[in-house]
Amino acid sequence: MNYPVIKSKNLRPYQICNCCVMDTTDEDIVFDSKGVCMRCNEYKERIEPEWNYGKGHEKELQELISAIKKSGEGKQYDCILGLSGGLDSAYMLHLAVKEWGLRPFVFHIDTGWNLLVAEENIRKVTKKLGVKLHIEKMNWDEMREMQLAWFRTGLEMLDAPQDHAFISVIDKYAQKLGVKYILNGYNVCTEVVADPASWEKGAGPTGDGTYIKDVVKKHCNIPIKDYTYTSGLKHKFAIPYLKGVKTIKPLNLVEFTKESMIKTLADEYGYVPYGQKHFEDLITKFLEGWWQPTRFGHDIRRAQLSSLVVTGQMTRDEALKILEQPSLSEEESKELFSEVAKRLEISEKELMKFHGMPECTEKFKSQEKFYNLGIKVYEKLGIEKRIRK
Ligand SMILES: [Zn+2]
Repeated sequence: MNYPVIKSKNLRPYQICNCCVMDTTDEDIVFDSKGVCMRCNEYKERIEPEWNYGKGHEKELQELISAIKKSGEGKQYDCILGLSGGLDSAYMLHLAVKEWGLRPFVFHIDTGWNLLVAEENIRKVTKKLGVKLHIEKMNWDEMREMQLAWFRTGLEMLDAPQDHAFISVIDKYAQKLGVKYILNGYNVCTEVVADPASWEKGAGPTGDGTYIKDVVKKHCNIPIKDYTYTSGLKHKFAIPYLKGVKTIKPLNLVEFTKESMIKTLADEYGYVPYGQKHFEDLITKFLEGWWQPTRFGHDIRRAQLSSLVVTGQMTRDEALKILEQPSLSEEESKELFSEVAKRLEISEKELMKFHGMPECTEKFKSQEKFYNLGIKVYEKLGIEKRIRK
């Protein structure tokens, strides 16, 4: 079935990168005279030489592991690791505990949308590694109402309540536990082509509590009391620079591919992959697999597959072939649609009404200016090196 897609106001002739599969559905995309996009060029010029497929970083990794262990001497934990159940965080836990001998505080946020397969994966991996799992269970009535609030805005990035909760809980433990390192699962290997900002219009940065609170204030019909907020000031300044808690991305210091990650986890723990990145929870699967493509015309797989293409794990033709088919079959989409409506306690008709809303023009308070200023200052001082722009 076809749905009317919201058309970008900056419509331009269709073009797709000659190197990856990013195209003009990212309205900010820029191509060079050879038809290669700016992301591919940035990758080739700057990121690939430094990352080098995870090779040649052994000394850096060893020093880092020693520093983490030293910082944790006499403490129960030496780092923090948030386990979503997704491939990256599960693989990082495997490396951290089994290969590097670290003692992470491992937590998982249960926002109420977990799929059984993800819960099983989390259980299998933590059990075999002998790691205690701390489950942070969110107040479901609040999460449901917050999810509805984001639907009411008409915005594209409707995952904000879950994403912000994750950052807030990391910040909470970073302050509470006294550890000096947070392990972040970001990796060039599978994520170097990031989701374009033009697909996230109107949303604040993930750690932006001002934005979250403003949407809650304007669109929630019940008081939100238990939810944990953080802020740019806390997340980007107080924790890293006053508390001295470093967020590190160790997956960029080791050599692996998406396929080898899956194989290791499947062989060692019986881990079951989800078919698509972020498909470990019901709402994200629904939003990324069906809502965004049919309402906004953006297919998040373009960025995910492009990461695999530019890093040589898949050919461009293979990626194009995958994109010919939708993420979810019609039948699966229907099932998900009614499940989401049921969980939100609204009728399918109401959910469909949100789908047909015009593009959001409402402005929300945000700390974006603070973030942008912070990035400039940090870059000037050379204390925050960003892997991508
Ligand atoms: Zn490209």
